[in-house]
Amino acid sequence: MKTVPVNVVTPDGPVYEAQVEMVSVKAQSGELGILPGHVPMVAPLEIGAVRLKKDGATELVAVSGGFIEVRQDNVTILAQAAETAEEIDLKRARAAKERAERRLNQSADQVDYHRAQIALRRAINRIDVSENKF
Ligand code: ATP
Repeated sequence: MKTVPVNVVTPDGPVYEAQVEMVSVKAQSGELGILPGHVPMVAPLEIGAVRLKKDGATELVAVSGGFIEVRQDNVTILAQAAETAEEIDLKRARAAKERAERRLNQSADQVDYHRAQIALRRAINRIDVSENKF
């Protein structure tokens, strides 16, 4: 089976590196499935899960937006924050979700709504990746 090397990197360093059979991401334009030999491209990502098919199994990495760059011989995902399912602290993500929900329930002039909504999406994404809900 053909494979392509995939790297997920953040400002704090590399998060994931493997030869995979397929990588799926949630691009701003919709779901993208990348197979070895895909044409080169760059696309912005939503907060979401990166699904990596490796040896027939699917591994998950939570990303907080960023970009996917598909090159001739490799794929790089650049994100502000990214965690493998095993790295996610579920308790922390649940606390972040509750904090964001509390903020969204306060009166509008007391909170930065947009910021709380994005924080809520990051937290839900981490919970879903940690619980393998994809
Ligand atoms: P929190 O409010 O819990 O800090 P956050 O969404 O504001 O969550 P980020 O700013 O996205 O956090 O990330 C800051 C750093 O903490 C990044 O390195 C990210 O990978 C890590 N991180 C955030 N939440 C978790 C988590 N639940 N488990 C593991 N690492 C996390």
